[in-house]
Amino acid sequence: MAQETSCEVGPVVLLGPPGAGKGTQAKRIMERYGIPQVSTGDLLRQNVVRGTELGLAAKAVMARGELVSDDLVCVMVRERLMQPDSKRGYVLDGFPRTAAQAGWLDALLDHELFDNSRPTRAWPIVIRLDVDYNQLLLRITGRRSCPSCGRIYNVHFQPPRVDEICDETGEKLVTRNDDRLEVIQPRLTAYQEQTRPVADYYQRTGRLISQRGSAHGRCHGSDFQDIGRSSRVRMKNGDCV
Ligand code: ADP
Repeated sequence: MAQETSCEVGPVVLLGPPGAGKGTQAKRIMERYGIPQVSTGDLLRQNVVRGTELGLAAKAVMARGELVSDDLVCVMVRERLMQPDSKRGYVLDGFPRTAAQAGWLDALLDHELFDNSRPTRAWPIVIRLDVDYNQLLLRITGRRSCPSCGRIYNVHFQPPRVDEICDETGEKLVTRNDDRLEVIQPRLTAYQEQTRPVADYYQRTGRLISQRGSAHGRCHGSDFQDIGRSSRVRMKNGDCV
């Protein structure tokens, strides 16, 4: 994959239900454009593991498949976006997830648009990954990841070479605590009720691009050459390239 690490990319927002492949696409964009993936799910899980105040507040909420409060998540995101590696842009994976978070992000970007000291002054490119319900279930229940390197596999579609073992590190793969069947339904409900309106909002403002995802973590559909204005992120054969 060719790299484009000198261009200004600005914010990229990936929306989609649990299991749609946001993490996979975020990693592709990150590698191609040299901008960080900002996954609110990963950041929250790191806080849970470290036992921080935020982690303690989020742990039970996440285990139930509900959303962590907007205030806590927005503070965490602001801190992450202030890091120097996000100057040329960043991929938001799992944020914004509520109308309030989308409003908060717009206010932040609005402020940046008038702040000449911040180089990433641009409205986000918003990509929504749409996947059939049955595919989502297979993708969530089959998902495994490496606890060391974070590489994501799927036992149905992208299995490791050796059953349940990471190809890169040789570590035993793990299943996320909230990928259990009983937690999947509340997560899908949270998406329908709280995150769909976010996509509608971006659609109304003309910033939404929808991509049909497949079983393999790819997106079908038209052969996008350019996404959004100024060719900042490209898709080919349905994948972010
Ligand atoms: P998925 O998209 O597969 O549900 P994530 O890793 O993005 O997984 O999120 C896991 C959990 O972390 C969510 O179910 C929710 O509890 C919490 N979470 C992640 N991002 C947010 C957010 N932007 N706002 C509130 N809660 C969040």
